[in-house]
Amino acid sequence: MTELLTSVREEVVQLLTRLVSIESVNPYFPGGNRGEAGMAEYVADYCRHLGLSVSLTEVLPGRPNVLAELRVPGATRTLLFDSHMDTVSLDQMGLAGLQPTERDGILTGRGSCDDKASLAAMLIALARLARKPDGLRANVLLLASADEEYLMRGAQAFATSGRTIHGAIVGEPTGLEVVVAHKGFVRWKLHTVGSSAHSSNPERGNNAIYQMAELIHRLRPVMDQQLAPKEHPLVGPATWSIGKISGGASVNIVPDRCTVEIDRRLLPGETGEQALADFDAIVARICAERPDLQVARDEPFGNVAGLDTPATADVVRALQQATGEIRGEARLRGVAYGTNASKFAAAGIECVVFGPGDIRQAHTADEYVAIDQVVDAARILEAAARAFA
Ligand SMILES: [Zn+2]
Repeated sequence: MTELLTSVREEVVQLLTRLVSIESVNPYFPGGNRGEAGMAEYVADYCRHLGLSVSLTEVLPGRPNVLAELRVPGATRTLLFDSHMDTVSLDQMGLAGLQPTERDGILTGRGSCDDKASLAAMLIALARLARKPDGLRANVLLLASADEEYLMRGAQAFATSGRTIHGAIVGEPTGLEVVVAHKGFVRWKLHTVGSSAHSSNPERGNNAIYQMAELIHRLRPVMDQQLAPKEHPLVGPATWSIGKISGGASVNIVPDRCTVEIDRRLLPGETGEQALADFDAIVARICAERPDLQVARDEPFGNVAGLDTPATADVVRALQQATGEIRGEARLRGVAYGTNASKFAAAGIECVVFGPGDIRQAHTADEYVAIDQVVDAARILEAAARAFA
């Protein structure tokens, strides 16, 4: 191993250990208290020590985005690095999630993979660029964003702030693959409405759970058939899934309401509005055949578009070139999960998703990242910034 790699590796282990030990559970999840506040302080300090201009913008009370700017005299273009500071719950990991350990080339802990590995790689790349800015032709901004794990309100706030950005690299665990396409989603609640009665005389009521069972039974084949032809070459098929059901107050009462939550994964180019309109039309046909079903739908509680960045975009080329130099190969890929890139793309920013770690490790009880991947990510991000013009 060369001296350069040894020193980057030491920097990675030290910085990532520190980042993982700062609790930043999104307050949407059990155990989340201060959200990103502690991480934001640390990241802001780190960037100030690099001599960068740093600003904190509150996205939610006590939960800021951090923006650090490396300005290059005369540069007219700006590249954005984004990674999120929040994590999911510590739950299955317990306090061990905040006590990272390094062994056999991996580093463990909550957020070690998603998304502090990307944040560490971006900070180290930024530090190396700040120490040696010669040859850099674009400004480089780092956004450490809040609330990605719930509603992506940090990315949303930045995307709508009016900053001109010419390309963005969104850090997420892609295993160092260059991701140019991913799915979006729309999520909503659907209710069946009946009338309650004492369960000793169930015939006097209208059981909303029975209605829901009948509705789901009729919905499934029609939805599956409607989605079957929808497929994207990089991200695969459009899908739908019922992930949650609730209904009834007590075993001795005929339930008057039953609710399901539906997750419809959108292909790039599909809109949540159109997916909902198609869904409503199917439900209307079922209800026309079965007038005893009383169905109501809420407005969606999540609606995020997919991503489909052209291979010719400057940010794709720069990252592909840098990845090729350091890893030898850089194929363009699509993934099924959604990211902050949806929010930036909706604001007209060309985006790629890229970062160390395996998405299968994210949100798990034994989250970890391969340290070598974080080292390579830092080197690739640095090279990509130098290639971006
Ligand atoms: Zn993430």
